[in-house]
Amino acid sequence: MSQSRRDFLALSAFGIVAGTLGRPSLARAWQQQPAPITPVFTPIRGNVGYFTGRGGTIGYLINKDGVAIVDTQFMDSAKLCLDGLQERSKNRGVDILINTHHHADHTGGNPVFKDIAKKMIANARAAQLQQQVYDTAVKSAADKGGAAPAPILVADHTFTDTWSESLGDEKLTARTHTPAHTGGDAIVIFEKANVVHMGDLLFNRLHPVIDRPAGASIANWIRMLDVVSKAHGKDTIFIAGHAGAKFPAVCAQADLTVMRNYLTALLDFVNTQIKTGKSREQIVAMTDVIKGFEDHGPLLARSLGPAYDELTAK
Ligand SMILES: [Zn+2]
Repeated sequence: MSQSRRDFLALSAFGIVAGTLGRPSLARAWQQQPAPITPVFTPIRGNVGYFTGRGGTIGYLINKDGVAIVDTQFMDSAKLCLDGLQERSKNRGVDILINTHHHADHTGGNPVFKDIAKKMIANARAAQLQQQVYDTAVKSAADKGGAAPAPILVADHTFTDTWSESLGDEKLTARTHTPAHTGGDAIVIFEKANVVHMGDLLFNRLHPVIDRPAGASIANWIRMLDVVSKAHGKDTIFIAGHAGAKFPAVCAQADLTVMRNYLTALLDFVNTQIKTGKSREQIVAMTDVIKGFEDHGPLLARSLGPAYDELTAK
């Protein structure tokens, strides 16, 4: 696949988010040109692995006593993921499905698991946000006389701070660390395998989506990455929600530090521009590369805009 195609796919993966950021043309371009999905299952450690297709990275557990999945991407890729899980688990179905946060590229495939997942878990705020975004989209479609958006499925079990459950010899724990990427983010820990699904709290060398309308906070995101980093060791393997085209979705503690330092540098960069008198419009149009973060490539409006808004919020 060409580099530009990969970049396009990486950006398009945000779907509805792109729409809320004033990039509807990108979302439309995607709808008109569905690219074939290559489903890839990659073992990580123990019985835990990750799946990539289209959208946020899915984490999964298959052991002799159960199957768990973290996030569901979109309907088309979720179907491919489910087929692969069923094949590997001899049609066991899914015991536990967990959403890390509400974005459509992480929850859009939930309906595929409707009668297959015994339990659907999410942070209470993420479940609320998912419903709110959907209700807004339904109203907007009705106002414009357009087609109603496809139905969603929201978790039926919610938690505030933590949730934990054993599945065979593995123990899963979800922990709320928010506001950060949204106002309802959680990480999911596979305790025995020592693997942590970070949801979109971790973008590996990719400018992150920062969902301010949903309550995101860059300053708190920086703190959350420190908290998570300190709570886990050097041996922990972290799953990133998204990664740059040349970078893996599985990361180490040092990659959390890179993300933390990137967010700090982003705030510093935007703060400097504000101090020199640049307007919001001028700042979001900047395509500089932040020194030390060349891997991220030129800056994008999706990170600059929210950073400006957070720094200038009263
Ligand atoms: Zn997200």
